[in-house]
Amino acid sequence: MSPNAPNSLPVISDSASCAPRALKPAVDPATLKHRDLLDGDFWRKIPAYKDVSEETFVDHKWQSKHTITRADKLLDALQNLASEGFIKDLEAGFKRAPMAVRVSPYLLSLINWDDPYSDPLRIQFLPLGSRFLPDHPKLGLDSLGEQADAPTPGLTHRYSDKALFLAIDTCPVYCRFCTRSYAVGLDTEEVEKVSLKASGDRWDKAFEYVASRPELEDIVISGGDSYNLRAAWVREIGTRLLEMPNIRRIRFASKGLAVMPQKLLTDDEWVEALVEVHTLGRALGKEVCFHTHFNHPNEITAHSQRALSRLFMEGITVRNQSVLIRGVNDTPEVMGLLVKRLSYINVHPYYVYIHDLVKGGEDMRTSLQTALDLEKHVRGLTAGFNTPTFVVDAPGGGGKRNAHSYEAYDRVTGVSRWEAPSVKAGQSFYYFDPVDQLPEEGRARWADPGEREKMIREINEQRRG
Ligand SMILES: *Cc1c(COP(=O)(O)O)cnc(C)c1O
Ligand code: SF4
Repeated sequence: MSPNAPNSLPVISDSASCAPRALKPAVDPATLKHRDLLDGDFWRKIPAYKDVSEETFVDHKWQSKHTITRADKLLDALQNLASEGFIKDLEAGFKRAPMAVRVSPYLLSLINWDDPYSDPLRIQFLPLGSRFLPDHPKLGLDSLGEQADAPTPGLTHRYSDKALFLAIDTCPVYCRFCTRSYAVGLDTEEVEKVSLKASGDRWDKAFEYVASRPELEDIVISGGDSYNLRAAWVREIGTRLLEMPNIRRIRFASKGLAVMPQKLLTDDEWVEALVEVHTLGRALGKEVCFHTHFNHPNEITAHSQRALSRLFMEGITVRNQSVLIRGVNDTPEVMGLLVKRLSYINVHPYYVYIHDLVKGGEDMRTSLQTALDLEKHVRGLTAGFNTPTFVVDAPGGGGKRNAHSYEAYDRVTGVSRWEAPSVKAGQSFYYFDPVDQLPEEGRARWADPGEREKMIREINEQRRG
């Protein structure tokens, strides 16, 4: 007995049989589903890839070269897998979408073509004309105010000790829910973008600014997507930042891991650049890690596991940020499975973002209440450090707020009010649930422009009970 333990401690096991008394019932095998990772030649069911070998399929150059950006190319790849009605709907979607479209063969192979309308990957990356809802009346294009907090183009300094560096304006995929649709992707018929090309000049200005601010310790390198940075650029950005005495932590952010894990498996030059930066960081006593973006358990396959283990073996921490999307991950079952599967492949589920107000994305948003309910379910499923925080990125530049920390929330009008004392003291921020999810009374009020300011005034007078 340890010297500190009181003698009156209850005896836990029966010393005669050594049998524990509180045996849990055997688990339902379904609760271990997070360990079943898709492997084998799953891509061969797509007509265009039926003769593609594993060696070819994992080649990141082949994946990039065969990435699809036009409806007619998608049709060629699928041939008769999708119905004519679906293809027409897709063509209409491509015309209306404010984001460019980019889908790798890997992604295309993960979509369930027996039911593309409700497939969670289709919803995220392939717009359909029939699914658009009118944008929320309170939507602005840069809804997070990233440009207003930018001292130099593409560097957002909103919080005191950390900043977001948008190094490049392209991505390996274009997400329909992207907050940065003001900047990333090619210009579409719907939106003319702010230009944030990878450029020495723009970068120099950003680095100068970072070096000039002693309070900055933490830089997020994002975009666009750091997957699209050349190996030499990864090295340059990493080295320049780590060499600044004020910088203690950097993170490369990339959705790429989720949509094209093949890059980590076969782009050795790029992985080596990242490893080099990580090694330099360790030598300097600074953290270099990786943030990625999986939204649905179907995105996590044996390919993802093999890709992630490459980073794990190097000792690089990987964290995940998901977006909460209607019809994709808004049920306790799916969100729970996502969290368990991420943990299983050594990725820490870090955040789940309540879907921002973005143009053309209303059909994908959920109410704040959905997030509150999900959080309650997820907490307790696994280790606390693998339990994501559900956050609202407060429109207007308040930054990320814990979903539970609203000042007031009206479930009828869908308006919630937020404060961010350490970011913008004394200011109020508002989030708006999607109108189509509100009760009848709320929908009627949003239909009347005269009611809008009144709903804001009402929330300002409410206090949470
Ligand atoms: C998210 C974000 C960061 C990083 O915030 P963490 O909570 O540390 O992940 C930094 N700057 C901006 C502008 C951001 O949006
Ligand atoms: S990868 Fe990230 S930045 Fe690029 S479109 Fe998707 S969400 Fe936006």
